[in-house]
Amino acid sequence: MGQVRQNEQSGGRGPRPGGLLRRTRTARLVAAGLAAAALLSGCALGQEGDPGGAGGPGAAGQQGPAPETKAQRLAKKRAAIAAATRKWGLAQIPLTAPAPPDAKPALSTRDGFEVEGQEDLPHVFTTVPVKERVVFLTIDDGAEKDPEFLRMMKELDIPYSAFLSDYLVSEDYGYFRAMQKQGTTLNNHTIDHPYLPGLSYEEQRHQICGMQDVIEKQYGKRPRLFRPPYGNYNQDTLKAAKSCGIEAVPLWNAEAFTDRVDYREWDRDLHPGDIVLTHFRGTGEWDGSMVDMVRQAMKVITSKGYAVARLEDYV
Ligand SMILES: [Zn+2]
Repeated sequence: MGQVRQNEQSGGRGPRPGGLLRRTRTARLVAAGLAAAALLSGCALGQEGDPGGAGGPGAAGQQGPAPETKAQRLAKKRAAIAAATRKWGLAQIPLTAPAPPDAKPALSTRDGFEVEGQEDLPHVFTTVPVKERVVFLTIDDGAEKDPEFLRMMKELDIPYSAFLSDYLVSEDYGYFRAMQKQGTTLNNHTIDHPYLPGLSYEEQRHQICGMQDVIEKQYGKRPRLFRPPYGNYNQDTLKAAKSCGIEAVPLWNAEAFTDRVDYREWDRDLHPGDIVLTHFRGTGEWDGSMVDMVRQAMKVITSKGYAVARLEDYV
């Protein structure tokens, strides 16, 4: 198990990996207890819309069956996810995330990750401050466009957030449109995936604000979240990001591959609120497919007692 690399390429001048965050055993036990209570409530299952519900086409003029109760709907959904778990070869049924919080937690920049004037700039963090036993799955770049992956995530109902670079996404905007239709938020990862600290403020602004424009044009929404390539940034990066509407800069605390998960922290473990990074990569770059990667990531996440929640519900 290696350590998560902050700098995917050498020469990075951004904040160095921490490895100093320590969480107390007490805090983790409290978190586990709360998570157990939240998971038992199963309340997250009822949040989705129900386009196939009562009154759909074909219902007119028929004495349809009694409308499904919420409990029946949940049971059906659980059964579908159990079937998908078998179909896609997952080791365990993914745990259900608790309902999103009414108010998003207050963010702060991780110690050692600040730039000068940080208090007025978007926060940079690797973990979201939550008590529940949830982690967040984030997928970067956009090279691999695997339709099986979209099917798998839909059938398993696993939320994730995409951080996209236009030089890869522009090969097939439609793939990511389908992803957005499934409920995934498309976030900013620059136009060309450069090493941002090596660029001027104006060049960085072009990379970040230009990608805001691309996503708005292609997908109708300006992202709120931005992740700098390789996790490298400087003050100009955060100023430029803020100037075009970015509210937060989530990095990551663990990274998933097809055969392992790497951790940033000394304890080589997941923690409540950890952001997990992975990439749109295929067999050409990985010893496996996107589907293999999800299988591996979920094996670790579920066996450690975590559910995957949607980052944008918390940030
Ligand atoms: Zn990247």
